[in-house]
Amino acid sequence: MSAPGDMPAEEVRRHAHDVADWVADFLTNVEGLPVLPAVIPGQVESQLAASAPRSGESMEDILRDFREVLVPGTTHWNHPGFFAYFANTASGPGILGETLTAALNSNAMVWRTGPAATELEGRTLDWLRQMLGLPDVFRGHINDTASVGSLVALAAARHVATEGRVRDEGLTALPPLRFYTSAHAHSSIEKSAIVLGVGTNGVRKIPVDDQWRMDVSALRDAIAQDRASGALPVAVTATVGTTTTASVDPVPEIAEICREEKLWLHVDAAYGGAMGVCPEYRTMLAGCEHADSFLVNPHKWLFTPMDCSALYCRDQEALRAAFSLVPGYLMTAEQGASRDLMDYGPALGRRNRALKLWMVLRYFGVDGCAERIRHHVKLAQDFAKTVDAADDWEVVAPVNMSLVLYRHRPSHLNSVEELADHNRAIMDSVNGSGRAFISQTQIEHPRLGSVFALRTAVGNLKTQQTHLDGLWEELQTAAAIAR
Ligand SMILES: *Cc1c(COP(=O)(O)O)cnc(C)c1O
Repeated sequence: MSAPGDMPAEEVRRHAHDVADWVADFLTNVEGLPVLPAVIPGQVESQLAASAPRSGESMEDILRDFREVLVPGTTHWNHPGFFAYFANTASGPGILGETLTAALNSNAMVWRTGPAATELEGRTLDWLRQMLGLPDVFRGHINDTASVGSLVALAAARHVATEGRVRDEGLTALPPLRFYTSAHAHSSIEKSAIVLGVGTNGVRKIPVDDQWRMDVSALRDAIAQDRASGALPVAVTATVGTTTTASVDPVPEIAEICREEKLWLHVDAAYGGAMGVCPEYRTMLAGCEHADSFLVNPHKWLFTPMDCSALYCRDQEALRAAFSLVPGYLMTAEQGASRDLMDYGPALGRRNRALKLWMVLRYFGVDGCAERIRHHVKLAQDFAKTVDAADDWEVVAPVNMSLVLYRHRPSHLNSVEELADHNRAIMDSVNGSGRAFISQTQIEHPRLGSVFALRTAVGNLKTQQTHLDGLWEELQTAAAIAR
């Protein structure tokens, strides 16, 4: 009997071919699967064995359950009819990159434990920075998500604002800390405040103007009030591409306030940053060159599989000062000369997330990425025109990026509640069709008042005009039934 060990390499080869065939077939046929699976909570779990098998099973059996139990319980983000939240793509080159990442299993805690992974991450994020037209004072690293990226940036801001005291003393001896962001910022900013001891009450949610952009005079007032009351302002988070309407905060004015007030400016462009790849849309990133930190998610609108979020920071020393802690067992001879990625956030171990991004950027090229983003913007704009031109339908916010907000508004329905119920019924019916998956949001509209809006975001590489035509068909059918 042989010593216990891994699956024999020849068996890996055989199943890798099976898996490659499955992936290619899936990418070919995903459109035929329902985007949103018809499962109820607990249904998948009830089909899975309650305990791990005593002895090993064949890969054939395992892959069969993957196909028969897991795939039917999957919401297909890689489906061309995925329009909910912000659509994303696991592109071909990205899937291949993930596979190689798993094979190498680099853990770039310190440079020595992943020299290529560490340096590839720096270089690839330099590429992306150039693609967005951001200055070379920014250096980037990759986090799993924007939520963690913002947490890391705001922790560095907190370190700087407290002159490092928070690191040693915690929050005990400090005045109450304040974060500023718009009422339309992503919930991750508030979550960062929870984790960083600022608390949700320490987040000043600045009101927005009639285009859902942060009101800068309200920001000024809030900072002045906090200073007067003895609180310590720490950071302003501006959003380029808000979750609700893809609005863009007035970053140049906010940057000016941050400069005067000596506050850290963090820009959350998790979705909208990708617009900067197209030179004609780059004005949307105006002012971001003044930020202290800037964040964009390649796993959102840059065709890279989950997870990959790029965080750029002007002052790398601030990040290291907030996070670096080198126990004896992690010391290496090259420390000081090397970049050790464990110094840039709370995690020690880290996957090589740069490989898939590098492969995506090389495969599509800068122009190819721009062309694809432009195509999505055009699809969204054309969809908005179709909706707006139809009787009883209206688009309720400007199409800033690839996001369309709209509703059905038949004349016999008047109250906010009736319209919300009606549009919710339309959404449920569209999502039940399996052809498309859309989401919803609630906005205060300057003219229309409180609006329950349907939300369609274009962002999957497979999405073409036919899929938006299909969605429009489903919407009209659903509206006719819901009437
Ligand atoms: C999607 C999004 C986030 C959250 O991204 P995760 O990577 O899922 O944490 C944060 N901010 C904005 C503006 C987003 O669009």
